Amino acid sequence: MSADLEKQIASLSGDIAALHLTLDNIGAYVYIKDLHGCYTYVNKMVRELFACPLEEIIGQSDSKFFSVEQSGELMINDRVVMEQSQTVEAEEKNIIHSTGEVRYYWTVKKPLFDEQGQVKGMYGISTDITERKLLDIKLKENEKLLDTVLNNVDAHIYMKDRDCRFRYINASTARLFGQQPDEIIGKKGEDFLPPETAADFAILDNKLLATGEKVSGEESFSDGKGNTRYYWSTKVPIKDEQEQITSFIGFSNDITELIALKKNLEVKANTDELTQLANRRNFIDQAEKEFIRARRYHLPLSLLAIDIDCFKDINDTYGHHVGDQVLKEVAAVCAANLRGADCIGRMGGEEFSVLLPETGGDAARVMAERLCRQVRDYQLAGPRKDAIKSTISIGISEMLAGDDDLDDMLIRADKALYKAKEGGRDRVCT
Ligand code: GH3
Ligand code: MG
Ligand code: MG
Repeated sequence: MSADLEKQIASLSGDIAALHLTLDNIGAYVYIKDLHGCYTYVNKMVRELFACPLEEIIGQSDSKFFSVEQSGELMINDRVVMEQSQTVEAEEKNIIHSTGEVRYYWTVKKPLFDEQGQVKGMYGISTDITERKLLDIKLKENEKLLDTVLNNVDAHIYMKDRDCRFRYINASTARLFGQQPDEIIGKKGEDFLPPETAADFAILDNKLLATGEKVSGEESFSDGKGNTRYYWSTKVPIKDEQEQITSFIGFSNDITELIALKKNLEVKANTDELTQLANRRNFIDQAEKEFIRARRYHLPLSLLAIDIDCFKDINDTYGHHVGDQVLKEVAAVCAANLRGADCIGRMGGEEFSVLLPETGGDAARVMAERLCRQVRDYQLAGPRKDAIKSTISIGISEMLAGDDDLDDMLIRADKALYKAKEGGRDRVCT
């Protein structure tokens, strides 16, 4: 051998060694197969994957290393490359025989030609994309979970950008708006909602944008046909790395029934069941406010203490049931003869109080006399109405400069009432 040839061979060997080194460190699976699908070359990553030395891989097909089903699938791509002389770029899924582990690859396979241009095999480069693929699968699973939750909860859930344009609405919000999500996305509330509803939604939106904090509060939605529903809404800001709000997510729960129930309970707690007048506590609350207002603005204020005369006799003669009826009717007669600003309450038993704002003692006496007369002249309803005669006695107190609180007026009115009873009943005393 000439020295020149020896030099060339040495140089070529060096090149081949360098190529092997490169292929072994390329970060992808590189392999060459013959027409029968048997390996003629694999790089280090393939050897490590199969956990076999090169000698045990060369001459073997995929069926030795992958499950039968998997290797069949791989062979389909190999056949396309070799029989149709085509490049195949595809995602491949392998199950490693020895471990049962599933791995995903992005694979490029190309035919190899001999000197006559005939296909003699193929080579392939497969990049492991398992981590990315698993992340993708996980992401899709999470998306599905989120979608299922968002579209099956009763709560209205939505996302808006910092210009308050809708970026997302869940199914229940779409139902509330009576439109498909894609009809709403990109729009602001005022573009499609009744003006008062849009304005109401804007209050919490603006508070969140101004404070940058999570906000909660009551909101209402009017459908424009006179139906209003109430919501408890929480809106949470989403911020970028510079702590700037980019968008916010809102959750609104329908509390219409709850609010009606609460109102109902409030009315019940403040109302005397039999007469439907304010109960003692409610009357005192209102009267105390009026007392403070009258003192601040130096306005006159009067109070009437009313008691049904000989009520015990009515009960004893006609029974408790008739007594209740009399109580109800006397209460109604009194209430019907008051002015809008006056308040009346049942203080207990057959006793009532009336507060007369901006009314001095003389005017109060006129009012009290009128009440006495109205009750005296009133014809009770019911089966024994002719037989039952009902009267009331009234004690009046007027607010005095020295009064500390409402109690002073209540006590004086009671004393006056006692005087009216002493004086023969069915009368007014100051
Ligand atoms: P007076 O003229 O001095 O006020 O005599 P009176 O009989 O009205 O006064 P008294 O305080 O002796 O009796 C009040 C009665 O009112 C006694 C009580 O059983 C009755 N009473 C209190 N609450 C109710 C009620 O809700 N329904 C009925 N039917 N009776 C009631
Ligand atoms: Mg009485
Ligand atoms: Mg009494």
